[in-house]
Amino acid sequence: MQHVTLNNGVRMPILGFGVYQIPADKTEQAVSDALAAGYRLLDTAAAYGNEEAVGHAIKNSGIPRQELFVTTKLWVQDAPAQDNTRRAFETSLTKLGLDHVDLYLMHQPYGDVYGQWRAMEALNREGLARAIGVANFSPDRLLDLILNNEITPQVNQIETHPFFQRNPDHDLMREHHVQHQSWGGFAEGRNDLFTHPVLSDIGEAHGKSVAQVVLRWLVQRDIVTIPKSVDPDRMAQNIDVFDFELSGDELARIAVLDTGETLFFDHHDPEMVAWLSKRRLDS
Ligand code: NAP
Repeated sequence: MQHVTLNNGVRMPILGFGVYQIPADKTEQAVSDALAAGYRLLDTAAAYGNEEAVGHAIKNSGIPRQELFVTTKLWVQDAPAQDNTRRAFETSLTKLGLDHVDLYLMHQPYGDVYGQWRAMEALNREGLARAIGVANFSPDRLLDLILNNEITPQVNQIETHPFFQRNPDHDLMREHHVQHQSWGGFAEGRNDLFTHPVLSDIGEAHGKSVAQVVLRWLVQRDIVTIPKSVDPDRMAQNIDVFDFELSGDELARIAVLDTGETLFFDHHDPEMVAWLSKRRLDS
């Protein structure tokens, strides 16, 4: 497995396993299968409702804790955000059955972002979160957070796939040493990604699937990726992307697929801001 080194020196696998939309009662099996297939980076969130199941799979795997890289995420917190952030973190840790996480992400750029971030900085200093970062931060919000706080986020996890490539975001993150992480690397199959003619053609040239071409493309851009699958064959396929390389010409053919627009929702859309900000999780 290839790794990236975050701006605080923590090493992170460049490819891992995401568990969004895996029902809680199917998650333990899926994570056990993923660990058996060789995944060591697991990406969950309080909002996914499956942290306990992830924790059971970790415990039952017998894999030494230091070999795993576990990410979870903070949902938007009510005031006082600093106290509630710590409480939310402790709830996640208890559900996961762990004494620390490798990466703690602020899931949405909403609410008392500064209060949440300062609580996360404290968790980082105490060693409870080896790295801290954000998700769904646009370049302007990310830069504001960087310029007005002590710790520069180690990671920004954003929608990134061949139809929404995030080049301006990527350049800003590179400039400030924030690791770009993709969510929805397959665009969850939207735009007929898995049968797209250009991606299929490139795959055929290498004897690889479209999924493998997409993951390889992300890895070659130094973007950490966390494909989700409940199918063990696909899990094995998705981690098998380190034995081929896309040429400059192939990268250029993929570059022109970028539409510059989300396939999910715009985090600036007032309706979404209101919906996400008001959502509260059951503890
Ligand atoms: P995704 O990885 O883009 O796509 C998952 C879909 O692709 C599933 O329907 C899966 O079906 C299918 N698939 C997987 N491998 C395949 C293959 N080799 N061939 C054909 N189909 C395949 O979607 P995602 O789950 O939204 O994103 C990945 C992870 O990013 C999430 O699990 C989560 O950890 C994270 N995420 C974060 C945020 C955020 O706001 N920070 C938002 C969304 C996601 P099967 O399961 O049936 O194989």
